[in-house]
Amino acid sequence: MTENLERLKQRIPLLEYLQRHNWKPCRAGSRQEFVGLCPLHQETRPSFYVNAAKNLFYCHGCGRGGDLIRFVQLFLDLPFRQTVELLEQELAPTPVSRLLEETAAFYRLQLHRHPEAGRYLEHRGLYDSSLIEELGIGYAPGGNLRRHLAAWCSSFDQLLEIGLINHHGCDAFCRRIIFPCRQHGQVVNLYGRSIGKSFPHRLLPRAKGGLFAWESVSSFSTVILVEGLFDLAVLWQAGFRNTTCAIGTQLTPAQLAQLSDQPGRSVYIAFDQDENQAGQKAAYQVALRLESAGLRAHSLTTCPHLRWLRSW
Ligand SMILES: [Zn+2]
Repeated sequence: MTENLERLKQRIPLLEYLQRHNWKPCRAGSRQEFVGLCPLHQETRPSFYVNAAKNLFYCHGCGRGGDLIRFVQLFLDLPFRQTVELLEQELAPTPVSRLLEETAAFYRLQLHRHPEAGRYLEHRGLYDSSLIEELGIGYAPGGNLRRHLAAWCSSFDQLLEIGLINHHGCDAFCRRIIFPCRQHGQVVNLYGRSIGKSFPHRLLPRAKGGLFAWESVSSFSTVILVEGLFDLAVLWQAGFRNTTCAIGTQLTPAQLAQLSDQPGRSVYIAFDQDENQAGQKAAYQVALRLESAGLRAHSLTTCPHLRWLRSW
């Protein structure tokens, strides 16, 4: 029991817990000592001291002090046992889907706070604000995701594992337009398009999910398949709501199964035309797979209409 309590206190450092509850510390003397207003009683001059090395607090105003568990007991007015249970719950990992949902919501808010993001959307020909909202497009400015997600008690290790931050704790998505990829309503991945000099495309290191927006596209008997989400967005904006996206030029078996769920469906493959013919070759390979699955495949990569579609 004592061992468990010690481990609990190590995993939720007192200073971190206090800061998560909006305690504003100032350094007091040594590097590990902090002082601020007491969260346990009303005061105007700071008398609440925290020693981060010892993981203890003491208030010279109300005379109370102790460890993390003691603080939470006083702060939330809970008995010891319930306090320990509550802290243990905080350590349970937050479901990944919820973290991705929170992250996507956070990035959505940033889109309108950073003019460079709006300029990039315009540059890509995307201007319909209701469509931008419908697709849940956001912007990752970089540098503040971890602080935001701290409210959901997600640990450093969990965010690192999902790929939202790097080993230094910095945002993995930085200066990128974000598209949340959903499946059955849940965010399963995030796609980030760099607006700067970094590598253009980035997905979290997890399955990219099925075809983009397949729930709304699956009823069409003629479907346009594109490789990028910006292609999809501008085609939707131009009224081609039967457009879906594989996010890349390779179809996963699950995505192929989705396209094949309606026998005889026509699929127009509109991949990028690359100088090295990579897009054209990929489209040809996809067409072969679709045909052998009983679908009618047409490649738009060499069709002059594609240029016209793209100019929208
Ligand atoms: Zn106090």
